[in-house]
Amino acid sequence: MRYDEPLFRPPSEAASFILQATLGCSWNACTYCAMYRGKRYQVRPVAEVLADISEGGARFAEDIRHVFVADGDPLGMSLDYWEPILLALATAFPRLRRVSTYATARNLLEKSPGDLKRLRDLGLSLLYIGPESGDDLTLHRIAKGATAAEHIKAAHKAKAAGMEQSLMFLLGAGGRERSEEHARASGRLATAMDPRFLSTLTLTVVPGTPIARLEDKGRFELPDVPGLLTELRWFVEETHPSAAIFRANHASNYLPIGGRLPRDREAILASIDEALAGRAPLRPEWARGL
Ligand code: SF4
Repeated sequence: MRYDEPLFRPPSEAASFILQATLGCSWNACTYCAMYRGKRYQVRPVAEVLADISEGGARFAEDIRHVFVADGDPLGMSLDYWEPILLALATAFPRLRRVSTYATARNLLEKSPGDLKRLRDLGLSLLYIGPESGDDLTLHRIAKGATAAEHIKAAHKAKAAGMEQSLMFLLGAGGRERSEEHARASGRLATAMDPRFLSTLTLTVVPGTPIARLEDKGRFELPDVPGLLTELRWFVEETHPSAAIFRANHASNYLPIGGRLPRDREAILASIDEALAGRAPLRPEWARGL
């Protein structure tokens, strides 16, 4: 397998076969994101991708149940690319149960309902989408490329095609100034998009990114730790999905918690309150990661 670094995947895809169909991210504009800066977006030649699938099949045919298609937003690829890739995956891995990929609201909106249904029928069943915020002003400031309403429309298209969503929201993305608006609107957007999986991460300001330059100029300030925990509380208060697995255990978070929403809402809120009162251990700064 040829991998072009850096290569990212969601934590929940740690045991999956990672197939790098694109390099970089076609959007590459989010102000907090350092993942693919300096990496030119490319769709890899399909022959190379098929060769990787063939090699993976020869080595792991019976072991692979999950495949994650990288890099940044492969859903932007046309069906001409996706179809041979998904057909080859089904042949190479006979026990395959799930194919997933990162997606943006923009590339979901660009696909027709028929194209999305065709992708689902060929096996693409889970989309990782990072709205990061439900607050339109915050979305504009972080250059996410889509509004809350566009994210809802995209989610409805994915659902209509039978695809599941795993959503990510970013505590701190609104800065101190938009903290409550950002957190509460994020919970409302999560409710409206109604995912199967839902997670919160915490913003880390990475040197060299546009948001770091704003911070240097005093135009962006990350909430402190109690402020971030309060955002988490506001987010959970506002989030009412029909049945979602919620995780806030990403390495960037100070309080690793999780559960099911709405079932475990009160227990999750009680855990956050314990942490806000200083009675629960927080992840130390040295143990945090991006
Ligand atoms: S869409 Fe994702 S990978 Fe692309 S710039 Fe934004 S956060 Fe980074």
